[in-house]
Amino acid sequence: MDHLDTRAVWAGEQAELAHRGTQVPVQHSIAFGYEGVDDWLAVALGDAPGDIYSRNTNPTVRAFERKVADLEGAEHAIGFASGMAAVSNALLTLLAPGTRVVSVKDTYGGTNQLFIDILPRQQIDVDLRDTTDHEAIEQAIARGCDVLYLETPTNPTLKVVDIASLTAAAHERGAVVIVDNTFATPINQQPLALGADLVVHSASKFLGGHADALGGALAGRRDLVERVYHFREITGAALGPRDAYMLLRGMKTLALRIERQNASALRIAAWLAAHSGVEDVFYPGLASDPGHAIAARQMTGFGGMLSFSLHGGFDAVRAMLPRLRLAHRAANLGAVETIVGIPATTSHVECTAEERAAMGIPEALVRLSVGIEHADDLIADLAQALA
Ligand SMILES: *Cc1c(COP(=O)(O)O)cnc(C)c1O
Repeated sequence: MDHLDTRAVWAGEQAELAHRGTQVPVQHSIAFGYEGVDDWLAVALGDAPGDIYSRNTNPTVRAFERKVADLEGAEHAIGFASGMAAVSNALLTLLAPGTRVVSVKDTYGGTNQLFIDILPRQQIDVDLRDTTDHEAIEQAIARGCDVLYLETPTNPTLKVVDIASLTAAAHERGAVVIVDNTFATPINQQPLALGADLVVHSASKFLGGHADALGGALAGRRDLVERVYHFREITGAALGPRDAYMLLRGMKTLALRIERQNASALRIAAWLAAHSGVEDVFYPGLASDPGHAIAARQMTGFGGMLSFSLHGGFDAVRAMLPRLRLAHRAANLGAVETIVGIPATTSHVECTAEERAAMGIPEALVRLSVGIEHADDLIADLAQALA
């Protein structure tokens, strides 16, 4: 089981198979019964394997958690009801009044709301720096840092952050480093191998891959993941067994899907960059992209996400989007179907126009989540929509 492709198929499942089934069953039971009080107590105290109550642990969810841990090369992983549940539970566990978190300005919209609203209300010092200004981020870390929170490539402008060098700077200050690996997936980027302590995911995106199950995951150092697990036991942000099953099934094809999406996105980005109607293309796989050198160092593929802006501003976007035949106009990403969106209704729906402008997100930006369709068909569709 050396290769990620193989592990995506097999990892995490064996211990939860039942009744000779080859697929992990969906365990809908909320509670797990014990005849003897001693057996029950041993499980409750963590001295024996088993489950007590599904808000805390559940066999189907555990298979999902083990697959995520395996693919991220993590000691441990836990599931969440959504990506935002994973992000917020991790940050609220590791931060307390008087502590300090350093991050970048263009994190995912919901994460940004935590940084600008919820965490400051807990008397947590939040220092957000320009995503591509590594010196400024290092200066913020040097002022004191309990948590360094990174997202790369970013949503929606695909900026790239140097995980290894910023992690080294944060570790010198004794900080915990969290990386949102939603866009890259463990197939394209392994933040823990680059030194990070924790990885978070919106499993609703590429991990699940079919836009039909909501979930999140946190993977990494066992002691840290266990602290967040005990917090989640109380906040109750647990992943449901049916969603866990859907995510587990989706993850079996993760490597196949990402391979196709990497190749198609690169072709489409290059095609868009040469199109006269296109103003700018944001994709770290393009040699001309400002993040290309770092991305080439820390990623094994550049991912299925890209964005572009059009000459003619928002009116041009408004005219083009409805003409696309091979794309859902919707607020998600990472599915087998191609999806287009604009920041105001997708990644940064939680933000005001002023907040988006402050984050450097053009209002005429189109975000493209490249699906697994044939790239020739996707390019032909873009061509007719831009014509
Ligand atoms: C979607 C997303 C999230 C939030 O995930 P949900 O499952 O929608 O809660 C967090 N980070 C990134 C990068 C995302 O794209």
